Amino acid sequence: MMNCKQAAELVSQALDRKLSLFQRIALWFHSRQCLLCRRYENQTNQLAMLVARYMEAVQSFDPPSEQRLSPEFKEQLRAQLQAALREEDAKTGDAQSTD
Ligand SMILES: [Zn+2]
Repeated sequence: MMNCKQAAELVSQALDRKLSLFQRIALWFHSRQCLLCRRYENQTNQLAMLVARYMEAVQSFDPPSEQRLSPEFKEQLRAQLQAALREEDAKTGDAQSTD
């Protein structure tokens, strides 16, 4: 029988990919006899479900138009950021040349 460490590893892997039939049977067999791993598996799956729901909610979030930045403001912000970055690059260049 697999140990708890191996079982926990499979529980994590199951979030990213489908386990092989053998792995699923081995995990099921271990979890049936190990309360800690059974709990861990349940909690991990619940957490993964919550994260998936959260991600879905975040992705479908559509702020009302008054909370969005205007294209003009975005353009100004972009220009200011680029100017600041260029300034920063220039400073770094100076620092390197004085070394
Ligand atoms: Zn266990």
